[in-house]
Amino acid sequence: MDKDQIQQDLIKIVGKSRVLTHDLDLMYYSYDSSFLTKLEPKTPYAVVFPHSTQEVQRIVQYAYDHKINLIPRGAGTGETGGCIAINGGIVLDLASWDEIIEVDAENMQVLVRPGVIHAHLNEELAKYKLFFPPDPGSSKMCTIGGMVANNASGLRAVKYGCTEQYILGLEMVTATGDIIYTGGMKARCIKNVSGLNLTKLMVGSEGVLGIITGIRLRCWPKPEARGIAMAVFDQLDDAPTTVLEVYQAGILPSGIEILDSSAIWAVNQFKPEIQLPDAEAILLFEVDGNPPGVQYDGEMIKKIAGKRAREVEWSTDPQRMAELWEGRSVTATAAARIRDDGSRIFAGEDISVPLSRVADTLRSIRALADQYGVQVVNYGHIGDGNVHTAPVINPENPEEVEQVLKLVHEIHLLAIEMQGSTTGEHGVGVVRRPYAELEHGKAVQYMQRIKTVFDPQGIMNPGKLF
Ligand SMILES: Cc1cc2nc3c(=O)[nH]c(=O)nc-3n(C[C@H](O)[C@H](O)[C@H](O)COP(=O)(O)OP(=O)(O)OC[C@H]3O[C@@H](n4cnc5c(N)ncnc54)[C@H](O)[C@@H]3O)c2cc1C
Repeated sequence: MDKDQIQQDLIKIVGKSRVLTHDLDLMYYSYDSSFLTKLEPKTPYAVVFPHSTQEVQRIVQYAYDHKINLIPRGAGTGETGGCIAINGGIVLDLASWDEIIEVDAENMQVLVRPGVIHAHLNEELAKYKLFFPPDPGSSKMCTIGGMVANNASGLRAVKYGCTEQYILGLEMVTATGDIIYTGGMKARCIKNVSGLNLTKLMVGSEGVLGIITGIRLRCWPKPEARGIAMAVFDQLDDAPTTVLEVYQAGILPSGIEILDSSAIWAVNQFKPEIQLPDAEAILLFEVDGNPPGVQYDGEMIKKIAGKRAREVEWSTDPQRMAELWEGRSVTATAAARIRDDGSRIFAGEDISVPLSRVADTLRSIRALADQYGVQVVNYGHIGDGNVHTAPVINPENPEEVEQVLKLVHEIHLLAIEMQGSTTGEHGVGVVRRPYAELEHGKAVQYMQRIKTVFDPQGIMNPGKLF
């Protein structure tokens, strides 16, 4: 169908002020945070900003009748090209539909529209001493709808898990224009095992099954106390061994982060005043809970880490905790600054491996990086084996681009070889689609058949996931 006609029709459905048609505006929607979409940007036919379920339904029905692709989008912070119209289509920008409908503090839950920003939600919940635990690094930008679609998590997943654990129910518009309610969307109970679990199916579905228009989230009581321990190791293998021993002592920290020598170097280059000790690895443990529990966990971590670490420090003092954590919090920025003529790219930095293989994985990534002549900075959520590799290249240099693409391909293969996964948190999108068969085998055919039930014409975010 003619692009101009589609734009005119959408204006009739939602009004001129909520449709973008100008080429310059559309260009903004041709990429997300992934390197791949910056290499190959694809503009949509139009962008719409629906503000009600009925508007979404009308747009979907129109697209269904005319067989036009639909691509839901939150804040576009995704790192896999998930919200890009790679085969043309209409982008539904849901970021401005950001209503917190109800905080039901009595029942420990909250009802939101998809565009609510993660950090804003937690600011609101804090008034009730509640919080929504998954904590992506993009918290101040990403939307709850995008988090649900990507099953996002963060450094506290080790204790609190991923987004899926907190979704009580969803309102969604399927690709045929049906409005359905999954799980406990219309209830207020916390336990609910009634029916096939469509909520779980939708969480992490990356926009290929339908558009999430309402989310009922479970909240948790906000812990009162917090403490940070930093342990410095001369041997890389001592880091995962220490993590395992902490678990074996019955302690579940809220976060366990690793910086390897490349990340330590990058941080010290970027902000020398942080003065991270020169070492093979640094572990940062965060514990939270009630004050005596936090103190006990901290003392135990100090004792256990002290068996192998060159130095260990434990603190519950807010200023000292911020200082200890600063190295980790600037790592991503530091990686982006280590070359004057280059930058960090998001191209495949999110593999997940078993804890017992973390050290081998980091060594293998370093060897691969040397082989392809690409500088990398390694860090990650070691508590759940989620390794982030930040390649740093000059994106204007075609040779460097070619080499980095080979490197990230090898890193994805390495993840599978290590009995891990190509993605621990950022999702599949376009970037990891080539590994679907390798990772899931025949199960991919069943995924495709499930998609057909929700989306018989294949118009919902095509080209993603599988
Ligand atoms: C600096 C930085 C740090 C990050 N840190 C983390 C991290 O720690 N952990 C982590 O998990 N991720 C992280 N990410 C990745 C990203 O922020 C998350 O995946 C986030 O959940 C994406 O949300 P978004 O609103 O930007 O979604 P988008 O990027 O707009 O979309 C992501 C996917 O969700 C789909 N989608 C969006 N909204 C809807 C909807 N309402 N209905 C159906 N489908 C929808 C899109 O089609 C797309 O497939 C980071 C990204 C950046 C840039």
